[in-house]
Amino acid sequence: MKIHEYQAKELFRNAGIPVPKGDVAASPEEALEIAKTIDGPPWVVKAQIHAGGRGKGGGVKVVKSIEEVKKAAEDILSKPLITHQTGPNGQKVRNLLVEEGLDIEREFYLGIVIDRKIESPAMIFSQAGGMEIEEVSAKSPELLFLENIDITNGFLPYQARNFFFGVEPMLDKNLLREFSSIMSKLYNLFISNDCSLVEINPLVVTSSGRVVALDAKINFDDNALFRQKNIATLHDPYEMDELEAEASKYSLNYIRLDGNIGAMVNGAGLAMATMDVIKLAGAEPANFLDVGGGATEEMVKNGLKIILADNRVKAVLINIFGGIMRCDVLARGVVNAAKEVEIKVPLIVRLEGTNVQEGRAILKNSDLDFSVARDIEDAAEMVAEQVS
Ligand code: ADP
Ligand code: MG
Repeated sequence: MKIHEYQAKELFRNAGIPVPKGDVAASPEEALEIAKTIDGPPWVVKAQIHAGGRGKGGGVKVVKSIEEVKKAAEDILSKPLITHQTGPNGQKVRNLLVEEGLDIEREFYLGIVIDRKIESPAMIFSQAGGMEIEEVSAKSPELLFLENIDITNGFLPYQARNFFFGVEPMLDKNLLREFSSIMSKLYNLFISNDCSLVEINPLVVTSSGRVVALDAKINFDDNALFRQKNIATLHDPYEMDELEAEASKYSLNYIRLDGNIGAMVNGAGLAMATMDVIKLAGAEPANFLDVGGGATEEMVKNGLKIILADNRVKAVLINIFGGIMRCDVLARGVVNAAKEVEIKVPLIVRLEGTNVQEGRAILKNSDLDFSVARDIEDAAEMVAEQVS
């Protein structure tokens, strides 16, 4: 799960990691009121969306007068924000973070992720702050420093010194102490909240020598949310794709893609294989949908309704191998979905496995209009033909 910058900064603040003074606003008037409580100029108005790259996309505005705060807020709220992470349609901005503008002298990068290879957290530090870290990694990896953290020991002071010997051996002792304290607090925050990623980009040193987290990004491990109740309340449903949000209500694994072939499959492996054969047949899948091994009639029905609610879908392929899931359960779910929504696009069904005869009979005896495919290859070709 992702959260907004203003929420992440609140967690930072509570953990003792310095952040700029600021607050969240939902309108230009509120933005102005908040700015009045903060010393300036300058003030900074920042779009709160989950995607990064807001600065380049025009979602971060540094202004020099209090009147401009309102104007900047109006500007940012008036249109979807497009960044390299939002997709071409951009993301609607509902909230703004209004904060004190800092006089930045130096920018650093500090982050923690899980290193799956060694099964432990890894802290990353770099003097190339404020830039895309992926780009730094690709073009100048020598600017990235990494320390794996043994979770039985936690983050140790020598690791902060290692970072600084890499970056700047002559670094000011006070600065080293400050950075070291921030690193250790960030690590504790990462562990105690079951994070999968924390990132401060940039972590800045101001002209007066303050070290401040200017940006804040935190992702949490969804599988741990059951024990992180306070974190779970930070979820913003507006940031999710509507259909994906709907699918998650029914525990369906659904991801929207760019093509026009809706696919309903059971099992992640079969779902991926189905997407592959659709592409091989020259068409593009509109979604990944794994209804799961033990899907119920209700899940199948809702899954199909979600696929059909996507108006780009021009044909649907149902590819089910009945193992744990029974084909008659699938068939009943499909027939029930057809009772609730009109199926206006061609439906191709490939059914095999447990209770296949019963499943086929249920489909055949319904008023559903569908074609039966012999096997997975045949199914992909049939569905691709519908959109060619
Ligand atoms: P994003 O990573 O989404 O582009 P950031 O929060 O990193 O957003 O902001 C982008 C840039 O805007 C920063 O690198 C910094 O140069 C500037 N900026 C952001 N917040 C402030 C602030 N409080 N004071 C001064 N400059 C800021
Ligand atoms: Mg940033």
